Amino acid sequence: MGNHKRIKKMLITIISIIISITTIGTVVFAADPIGYIEYWESSPETSIRKHLWTPYVYFESLAPGHISTTQFRAYGSIAVYDWNIGGTPCIKTDTEAGSEIRMYAGEYYDCKEKIPGWQLGWVGASYVPDYGVTYYGYYLLGQSRKNCYVYNMLVKAAIDVNEYNYMVHAIKHELGHSLGWRGHSSRTTDIMYGYEHGAYYLTTYDKRHTAQIH
Ligand SMILES: [Zn+2]
Repeated sequence: MGNHKRIKKMLITIISIIISITTIGTVVFAADPIGYIEYWESSPETSIRKHLWTPYVYFESLAPGHISTTQFRAYGSIAVYDWNIGGTPCIKTDTEAGSEIRMYAGEYYDCKEKIPGWQLGWVGASYVPDYGVTYYGYYLLGQSRKNCYVYNMLVKAAIDVNEYNYMVHAIKHELGHSLGWRGHSSRTTDIMYGYEHGAYYLTTYDKRHTAQIH
């Protein structure tokens, strides 16, 4: 009997999860694609809604002595794939022209050229021109309104080949910013935590926080 009860309890839990997923899905689908978004996580102000739903992401190494563009793109593929699986669409491209997110691996001066304000010792950074972020409306969270922003411009990101220890982590992290994450997670295990720590996989929080705005 004890086992049956436990199994029953488990099923109820599973069913209610399915119902809540279905409900959320329906709300998202039925909602206005601009201003009304159902979302799971807190801090919606730390995410930006992309104007383009599925940006093209370009990867290039500016320091082929450290890492070839081929290798950098192979790591980039892992990052793009992971964010896609996480619910945030983006497409890797090998053509720079027309890409909306451009990620470079380079030496200090390469990074400095791509990212204004780049500082010595940085592992990576993503750059969105100030005028490229505009207020765009609001999300509805329950009864309260939360601001919603968009990128209108090209987003650039760079990773210093001399500073990183975990390239895949660094690429995933910067791609997360480029896809709309402002600021950082306060959870040390997240890819979007502010310090390099060798995380390899996106956590549920990483995925949901970003996916909620796409
Ligand atoms: Zn960061």
